[in-house]
Formats: sequence, structure tokens, C-alpha cells
Amino acid sequence: MGIDWKPLLDIIHGAQRFVITSHVRPDGDALGSELGLAGALQSLGKDVRIINPSATPNHLMFLDPQQQVRKLGDGVTAANALEADVHIIVDTSAWQQLDCVRTVFEKTAAIKVVIDHHQSSDDLGAHEFKDVAAAATGVLVLELIEALGVQPTVDQAIALFTAIATDTGWFRFPNTDARTLDAARRLVVDGVQPAVVYRELYERSTLSRLKLHGRVLSRVAVDFDGRLAHTFVLQKDFEELQAHPSDTEDLVNDCLTVNGAQCAIILVEQKSGQVKISFRSRSGLDVAKIAEQFGGGGHRQASGAMLPGPFASARERVLKVLGDELTGESPA
Ligand code: 5GP
Ligand code: MN
Repeated sequence: MGIDWKPLLDIIHGAQRFVITSHVRPDGDALGSELGLAGALQSLGKDVRIINPSATPNHLMFLDPQQQVRKLGDGVTAANALEADVHIIVDTSAWQQLDCVRTVFEKTAAIKVVIDHHQSSDDLGAHEFKDVAAAATGVLVLELIEALGVQPTVDQAIALFTAIATDTGWFRFPNTDARTLDAARRLVVDGVQPAVVYRELYERSTLSRLKLHGRVLSRVAVDFDGRLAHTFVLQKDFEELQAHPSDTEDLVNDCLTVNGAQCAIILVEQKSGQVKISFRSRSGLDVAKIAEQFGGGGHRQASGAMLPGPFASARERVLKVLGDELTGESPA
């Protein structure tokens, strides 16, 4: 069962000025969904601004050739963000993930809308268009655009294809199903060349990124009878290799390739001293619930949380909870 888009179609047809926002450290699904949706609204003659709590990482800049995406405070103010009839959040329903845009969203007089596929959820006081069965928010945005009767341009189709391809690990994660592949098929019909998108995403690595991967993968350790594979990145790794925080993306999925691992985590020390944890699971282990214990959230098989430092104590807390979960469970 898909979403009933009728109430959102009415909201869209009745409004002119839109603001679209996604989560901190935006990924392919966040940016692809925002740009696909923005393009469709613009083709209906609407005024659209995309205002995010974080800057776009370099490796995803190709999605935004016209540089429409702005970081709040960087050429766009909170007052600008409040000048909207409708404010749409995509790819999160968590206050914490909105970071500095949170106060704007709390304050705005605009109609508030959330389009999302995450299991973890706060009440954002918005009209919710949510489907946890969708592999990516990009699938939902495509379905919305089709309900609007808009034909995506090639650039919009590339943005939505990227959203879906990245959130499914290029169609290999368990969230990939017929609906996912059919959405991708329609986007290919609209002009996407998957090989070109793949090259943009995965074959324009910096040497620093590749070296960071080498260093971090050489540190992978397994624990709890091989059920947990884990690794970490310290600030000094970024400094020594001149790598960027977004260069750690996908490393946690590599950890999960160890045979027998039911769960993988990566701990990334932040500049602030906090520690970002990414969780992935392949067994019945619900890592959204585990991340929620630490104030984070996400999906059953992919989640994240931000812990206070110092690094060693954050690591100890997380390993303790995972040890209890994994050793109390029979192997898959
Ligand atoms: P990643 O580990 O790749 O950052 O995130 C995995 C999934 O969990 C993504 O869908 C992401 O949006 C979600 N996620 C990551 N960190 C947090 C967090 O701190 N809070 C919530 N609610 N979700 C998170
Ligand atoms: Mn997503």
C-alpha cells in the first residue's frame, strides 16, 4: 500500500512559496529527494528554496549543478526560511537531525509537511507522509511527482535515482524490492544512465578517501563470537590523511561483509569531541532500537547516534550494550 497523496496535492496546489529541508550530514537520499521534489514544484511554477542544516558534501555536488541547496546561515537567513507557505522536511522525522533548522521549523507559520521512510520518529507537528516500507525517500518523492502529473527532467531523474541507489547500497541491501527496482526502471526510462551515476558516486574518489578506507579497514576487529565487526576513525586520521568527514561513508557496510557478523559499527570522533556511531545489522537485531537508547535512531538494519565523548568511554558504552544484545541472541 502506497501513500494517499491527495491531501499533499491539495496543499501543493494551494501554495506558492516552498522551503525544503533535510537532515544534518545530508546523504544521497536527502539531497536527491530534495532536488527531485524542488524541480517538480518549480515546473509547476512554484518558488522553492532548499535550506539545510549542513553543507552539501563535495562528492554529491554533481546532483546540484545550479547550486540551489543552501546551508542555513550561508547566504540564507532564518528570516528567509520563515518566508514560506509550506515547509517540507524530507528523509527524517527526528528533531535532533534538523539541528539549526529545528527552531525555524518550530517557529514557522507555514504548513508543515514530512515525507519520510524512517522507523524512528518524533512528532514534528506536521502533516506526515510516511512509509517505512519504502527503500528510500526518493521512491516516495517519485510517487508524489507522478501523482502531481509532472514529468521529471533528466536532472531530476538523476537526483531521484541517486537517492534510491545510495539508500539501497546500489540495490543490494535487504530494503531492495520490486517497488524499488520499478521506481529505478521508470527513472531510467526518464533518461538516467546508471553507469554514469555510478561513476559520479563511486569512481571519483580522492586519494585521501581511499587511504582513509585502507587505514580504517585495517583496524576492523570482531567480537562476541564473531557477531560484531567494528572499527573507528579518530580526528587525527582525518588530519594526517587530509580526509573529510563524509569520506567515512560506506565503511560500516564493508565491516558487515565479514562472514558471521550480524552487526557492524563504526565510531567516528567528531571535531566537537562527540562520537558518531553508525550501526548496521543483517540478522533480526533491530539497530534502530539500539540507536534510540543513545538518543539516535533510523531503520531496523541501518541506524545512527551521536554520543558525548571522550572517545574511549563512548566506545565502551556502545560495546557493552551490543555485547549484551548479541550474546543473549542465538546465532542466525
Ligand atoms: P548513518 O549511519 O549512515 O549516518 O545513518 C544510518 C541511518 O540512520 C540513516 O537513515 C540516518 O538518517 C539514520 N540516523 C543516523 N544518525 C541518526 C541520529 O542521530 N538520529 C536519528 N533519528 N537517525 C539517525
Ligand atoms: Mn533515506
